[in-house]
Amino acid sequence: MNDFSSVCFVCGHPVDPSDSLKNEELNLPVCMECRGSEREKQAISELRDGMAEGFVCGCI
Ligand SMILES: [Zn+2]
Repeated sequence: MNDFSSVCFVCGHPVDPSDSLKNEELNLPVCMECRGSEREKQAISELRDGMAEGFVCGCI
């Protein structure tokens, strides 16, 4: 895995995995600033699209 587990998935700011909020939909950390924001919603839909494409490669 990359460092998705230690940065806010919306703004890319480093977060402490043991002390961060998680977006339960994606199971990714989100910082206090982005939590519940429009940017968060946008990032979710963008990530969903990206993941759907990523699944095709089957490199898990
Ligand atoms: Zn953030």
